[in-house]
Amino acid sequence: MADPKGFLRYERADRPKRPRGERTRDWREVYADVDPGERDRAVATQAARCMDCGIPFCHSGSAGCPLGNLIPEWNDLVRRSDWFGAAERLHATNNFPEFTGKLCPAPCEAACVLAISPDSGGAVAIKRVEEAIAAHAWEAGFVAPQQAASATGRSVAVVGSGPAGLAAAQQLTRAGHDVTVFERDDRLGGLLRYGIPEFKMEKQVLDRRLAQLREEGTTFVTSCEAGVDVTVEELRERFDAVVLAVGALRGRDDSVTPGRELSGIHLAMEHLVAANRECEGDGPAEVHAEGKHVVVIGGGDTGADCYGTAIRQGAVSVTQLDRYPRPPSTRDDERSPWPTWPYVLRTYPVHEEAGERRFAVAVQRFVGDDDGRVREIELREVEVRRDPETGRREVVPTGEHVERLPADLVLLAIGFEGVEPMPLLDDLGLSLTKRGTVSCGADWQTQADGVFVCGDAHRGASLVVWAVAEGRSAAKAVDEYLMGDSDLPAPVHPT
Ligand code: SF4
Repeated sequence: MADPKGFLRYERADRPKRPRGERTRDWREVYADVDPGERDRAVATQAARCMDCGIPFCHSGSAGCPLGNLIPEWNDLVRRSDWFGAAERLHATNNFPEFTGKLCPAPCEAACVLAISPDSGGAVAIKRVEEAIAAHAWEAGFVAPQQAASATGRSVAVVGSGPAGLAAAQQLTRAGHDVTVFERDDRLGGLLRYGIPEFKMEKQVLDRRLAQLREEGTTFVTSCEAGVDVTVEELRERFDAVVLAVGALRGRDDSVTPGRELSGIHLAMEHLVAANRECEGDGPAEVHAEGKHVVVIGGGDTGADCYGTAIRQGAVSVTQLDRYPRPPSTRDDERSPWPTWPYVLRTYPVHEEAGERRFAVAVQRFVGDDDGRVREIELREVEVRRDPETGRREVVPTGEHVERLPADLVLLAIGFEGVEPMPLLDDLGLSLTKRGTVSCGADWQTQADGVFVCGDAHRGASLVVWAVAEGRSAAKAVDEYLMGDSDLPAPVHPT
């Protein structure tokens, strides 16, 4: 039974961070190293703020956790210092709670009943509690490989080793299937490896989970592009089912702004992949911010990752541009009735470090030098309107003033347009939706018999928590396809 008045006794407190000047000089996570005992005591008081609501919006409904994480249950277990029980309940719904604890923007917190009123002191710090349970579980040895009770004799190929592919692979391996994950890159992890910067999640966090999957029996094949290095015919012959978890990495480009052809203008992922490869020891990054004025176009998560990466690479200045107006900072605003996520300002630790965010602005021209390199941008204030007839959004200048900003490196973080072109999809006879994603039926099965899809490849670029939820759900569908029925959980359904 939770403490219904805990939130009146304890103030919300987020994880302490390392000093700005320290953390921007290295690639380690931004959060401070805290003695585990001290961490556990602090987190227990945060968990004690949970009221164990009759209707816990944090883990149910359209706004809460897609995984259906049993948040009130593990909050109460942590409050009572039952860390083993908390880890068991957390892992009951989430294969990789340390990934979501570190990377998820926490829709659960936005949906928490305590987020309704500023007088409540704010939402329960669910993300902090989740991350601490996962950390404690690894430290205490609670996270052990889970071997399947028996082998089914059926085999599954999972294409892609990002969070959706890994979640599907782990569920299916634990269900007794013979699972092989094919990864086209030289290292495993997909976006977790080459998209997410180290300062958000260090790679050893990913590597220890991969070791767990290996010990459970999942096979991994790297530097192998399905559809090229292993053909569709081979996949069909060797495996009873195929899961596509190939992500949605086709970056949206800017085809209209004059000057786009200048050198020094890159898609965000070119920057992030190069930086992550440098951190992995692959040599100097080709797209590097050192000594440059950096402009990041796009106000979302990927833009923030470029922003923090540029700071750590030694940029002279970093400016992040968003064409939308600055959202309200809190829900205590008539424009943002609860629940409002994501319509409140989302800030990340990198925004406290250096640089500047600009809102309601758009680049009208990239200006280059005689060598064809970008040197400046021309900026105008804008508003985004929706055309009443077509419903399309238009970016409209709101004034005549044109501002110039220095820009030696411009990073386009303006979204993703779905799955990258790949022979695999063509050979499977799969066409893409208007959103560039792979469609499927209610059972996650694509138009190709025995071929399933999950994660960003199905949903479009989204949160890590959705990737894990879709991977788990698709695994159940595959298990049913192979065995006739399944005891695996399915937290979400195809959209
Ligand atoms: Fe606890 Fe908030 Fe969930 Fe209620 S909504 S059960 S207070 S975490």
